Amino acid sequence: MPYKNFEEYNIQVTDDVKERYKNIIEDLGENTDREGLIKTPERAAKAMQFLTQGYNQDPVEILKSAMFKESYNEMVIVKDIELYSLCEHHILPFFGKAHIAYIPNGQIVGLSKLPRIVDVFARRLQVQERLTEQVLDCINDTLKPQGVAVVIEASHMCMMMRGVQKQNSITTTSGFRGQFEKIETRNEFLKLIGK
Ligand SMILES: [Zn+2]
Repeated sequence: MPYKNFEEYNIQVTDDVKERYKNIIEDLGENTDREGLIKTPERAAKAMQFLTQGYNQDPVEILKSAMFKESYNEMVIVKDIELYSLCEHHILPFFGKAHIAYIPNGQIVGLSKLPRIVDVFARRLQVQERLTEQVLDCINDTLKPQGVAVVIEASHMCMMMRGVQKQNSITTTSGFRGQFEKIETRNEFLKLIGK
């Protein structure tokens, strides 16, 4: 992920986190005066601010900024939305894809806003289950569609790199509201995303 869209690092937070990272790196047995590591605490502090910038963003406002009256009332699907988040138990990445569908109820939303909503919730300390629910509830409560569905498939570095080392396992979570609680609508969506 490029950093170029996020230049507003909080100087105070950067300094605080930088000092703490320096301690952590030393506690782990490294020498922070080593050439390759001199700027690492600051880079890590900025990277973590980037990866948790979702705390400072309002997903409801993002959706509301691009809602339009429209009579279209068939299923709208955005699939294969790239997703990068941090597991709140280990602060290690989990990453994968989100698939979102909704059936409008008089209003549609600009399609680019759905991946942005995913980013806002993903760029926080998360668990995949809550991330799924938050995306689902945000769309349901703001757009008030006839139905909404969210499926997330992700690989978790905390499983892949440590512990059980199940390197190829993918965790799938899903949530359905409104029309998607009907089995035939849900199945149509799952078929369209190739599940
Ligand atoms: Zn974890």
